[in-house]
Amino acid sequence: MQSNNKLPSLENINLSGKRVLVRLDLNVPIDDGEIVDETRITETLKTLVYLIEKAEKVIILSHLGRPTEGCYEERYSLKPVASRLSQLLNKSIPLARSFDELDIVLNNFDVVMFENVRFQVGETKNSSELSSLYAKRVDLFVMDAFGASHREHASTCGVINFVDQACAGYLMEKEITALEKVICEPLSPIIAIVGGSKVSTKLEVLSNLMQHVDYLILGGGIANTLLLAKGINMQASLVEASMLSFALDLLEGKYGSAEILLPDDAVCANSFDDLINISEVPIGEIPENSMMLDIGTLTTKVYREVLIKAKTIIWNGPLGVFEKEPFSYGTKAIAETIVASDAYALAGGGDTVAAINQFGLAQGISYISTGGGASLEFLGGKVLPAIEALRKNLEVVTK
Ligand code: AMP
Repeated sequence: MQSNNKLPSLENINLSGKRVLVRLDLNVPIDDGEIVDETRITETLKTLVYLIEKAEKVIILSHLGRPTEGCYEERYSLKPVASRLSQLLNKSIPLARSFDELDIVLNNFDVVMFENVRFQVGETKNSSELSSLYAKRVDLFVMDAFGASHREHASTCGVINFVDQACAGYLMEKEITALEKVICEPLSPIIAIVGGSKVSTKLEVLSNLMQHVDYLILGGGIANTLLLAKGINMQASLVEASMLSFALDLLEGKYGSAEILLPDDAVCANSFDDLINISEVPIGEIPENSMMLDIGTLTTKVYREVLIKAKTIIWNGPLGVFEKEPFSYGTKAIAETIVASDAYALAGGGDTVAAINQFGLAQGISYISTGGGASLEFLGGKVLPAIEALRKNLEVVTK
């Protein structure tokens, strides 16, 4: 694993009279308009309070979920986030839905949140046109969305090419320092636990981890797809047929020599909401029409025995549908084992953090990152595009 260098820091910039654009990762889980876990919001407060105190105007950017670009959808609106931030900062923070609205609102308010950046056409394609629309309104860009720094998007990277000055915020610095500890002094055995819904969203991360860790413990939909690749009938479980060949390559050690651990038994039901017909069966005996929704008792025991020996643990993704009580035990047992172990444990990703908080175990985890994919890519030695762009901006400014 390799280390990243220092970034231009907020501390060294004179903010007086400046208009600042700050990119945050406020992509919090929201259920029926209610914020389920506000860790990502509270983690941004240090930077925000500093900017609000020192700068003239502050424009906040963030994404939320994965809406279709160009289409406004209420469920992806940052409305609940803006209102929670207003409460936490004790300051009214209006939400602007367009650039025109942003300009008008900025005349009357010091702090404005721009609606979900992913509603804008060109965001995920890193459009120069969109990037310059952000940049031309400000004097400084502050990148503090560590969780989105692995994305080469207009609001995370592109904008940096169009502003005079850019720097990292306090959360970025904190995340990088904590992750570099794992990169620079990893104690073996290193064990990664990866769960969550899809192999396709963690493709690079999985192949990368295979080269760097001793064991790769799998759960969730990711394990389902690998089990299917091994020929096990997963019945109605969530699987990704398009990922089967990648899954086989992973199992055959094409990407690295980490030992992969897969579930031996499963907690099953006919749907996420079927809280009555729940069964626990050996893998390979999943009833017809049934879905594997959590790891079983035997798997939990095996995973525990391996995990307790770890000196470094990297965890991303729940091992089951932890949001529903009957399918939460596997994830909870693994979280408890991590807390009980003396390993340096690093957990990341929105759902993983939500699960840890749901179980009240946050205090026992060495470091909780607001970034899921970003933290894993960083640990894998990849130079994250936003970090690279910040460095380039610094080179230009100091030339
Ligand atoms: P991700 O965002 O990819 O980390 O996925 C997190 C989501 O995966 C959570 O909402 C879990 O409910 C879901 N999940 C975990 N295990 C399973 C499973 N076996 N089947 C379907 N969904 C799952």
